[in-house]
Amino acid sequence: MSDEKNVRLGALEAGGTKMVLAVGHADGTLLEREEIPTTAPEDVVPRMVAWFAEREVAALGVGAFGPTGVNPRSESFGRVLDTPKPGWRGYDFRGELMRGLGVPVGYDTDVNAACLGEVTFGAARGLDVVVYLTVGTGVGAGVMIDGHLLHGMLHPEAGHLLVTRRPGDDAPSTCPFHDSCLEGLAAGPAIQAHWGAPAAELADRAEVWDLESDYLAQALTSYVMCYSPQRIILGGGVMKQEQLFPLVREKLAANIAGYLNTPELADLDSYVVPASLGGDQGILGSIELARRALEA
Ligand code: ADP
Ligand code: ZN
Repeated sequence: MSDEKNVRLGALEAGGTKMVLAVGHADGTLLEREEIPTTAPEDVVPRMVAWFAEREVAALGVGAFGPTGVNPRSESFGRVLDTPKPGWRGYDFRGELMRGLGVPVGYDTDVNAACLGEVTFGAARGLDVVVYLTVGTGVGAGVMIDGHLLHGMLHPEAGHLLVTRRPGDDAPSTCPFHDSCLEGLAAGPAIQAHWGAPAAELADRAEVWDLESDYLAQALTSYVMCYSPQRIILGGGVMKQEQLFPLVREKLAANIAGYLNTPELADLDSYVVPASLGGDQGILGSIELARRALEA
């Protein structure tokens, strides 16, 4: 057991603009971290392999930007799928890391990793049905169902849930696919497109957060109805606007309209909560992915 505790695990949070690399232990202790820009895979992947190899990690966990193959039973497992990022489309990300390092590599979406981080170390400890939503440049959801991160045919894309526009809201959607999805109406860029200023500069405009919380609460209502989560965690840059939380809770309750009566919903302050790990939920979830890969 003490041996297991000292094993060095690698964690990689692979984002569209930067890669966050870390080494730590299964208990969530982080020993070292580094950030490098996301360039073409033939440049950045060998550099990351060298970094982890130097630190002699016994396994690696990766939380990757999507869309990407995360179902171990699928042919696309570990591959980056449709992306405009040069060189990444179809790239065998997990395979290259595994061949380069010669250790087990756990692999999931960045948001599933964040969800796992919160379940293992953070705001959802001990729970086994959890939704983690990040509201930032895009909107993404990680979903854990009965202790398993949800994959299915691809992975959940619950940030693109369709929402009903508030009458009179005819702002452009920033999602190129959907005129009225959550991401297109409520991600950071959508807020900026609607109100003409970056979200962070709109803190004092109550109408901004009133509308924003409408859309978030619509989406949360659907998550509640479909997944029956025991807790919902909201992270990402936009959720730094803490005034959103009471608004979202109130509107979620109004949307549910008494149809569900559970102890969790009776205590909404503990049900809809902010991300708890100071921005490290993705990296810590990737440590847990590494631990699980080693165990398997
Ligand atoms: P990413 O989604 O790219 O990983 P973030 O979660 O930080 O990164 O999200 C960035 C988005 O969050 C930007 O659109 C930005 O406008 C918005 N944002 C960042 N900080 C704040 C803030 N304090 N209040 C509201 N919105 C913010
Ligand atoms: Zn969309």
